[in-house]
Amino acid sequence: MNKFIACFLVAVAIFASVPMFAKNNSSQKEVQQTLSIIKPDAVAANKIGAITANIEGSGLKVVAMRMTQMTQDQAALFYAVHKDRPFYKTLIEFMSSGPVVVMVLEGDNAVEAYRTLMGATDPAKALPGTLRKDFGASVERNAVHGSDSLENAQTEIKFFFTPGQIYSKTK
Ligand code: ADP
Ligand code: MG
Repeated sequence: MNKFIACFLVAVAIFASVPMFAKNNSSQKEVQQTLSIIKPDAVAANKIGAITANIEGSGLKVVAMRMTQMTQDQAALFYAVHKDRPFYKTLIEFMSSGPVVVMVLEGDNAVEAYRTLMGATDPAKALPGTLRKDFGASVERNAVHGSDSLENAQTEIKFFFTPGQIYSKTK
């Protein structure tokens, strides 16, 4: 009986180690889409091209892109998750203060890859070579936005783009 259980456990272990059956984890690659915004400060500073060059240089692909200016109501809705934070009001004013460039980025683990490229929320704490270190001025005026999870990426992409406006390389 014990032999039978041992054989069963070995079989399960082998089965689980086959990639097809192993649960997906962050060390594995998955093509994802994420939402990027070049914020009003970086657009005003003439950094659309420099930031986009960085994004493309990292290997992420721009599969949708347009310029828009959010109304205060749109910005409030987009950042509704922060409605109880002390910076909510000024964040909405800032994000609706001028045009932004919204993009859908696609690539391997795009959500995490773009968060890494952006760097910490506060440019002063962001690593060298990150977008916020190079282009951000303050914790609020930090040049770029990126979705923080796959689920939020899907919601945020729908906020700005219809499926027909996204030129995916894989779908
Ligand atoms: P992230 O953009 O890195 O995901 P959060 O979701 O926490 O950061 O915050 C959303 C945005 O709100 C930030 O990108 C920044 O523009 C602004 N923000 C965050 N924290 C502060 C703060 N302490 N003071 C002012 N603005 C802030
Ligand atoms: Mg966030």
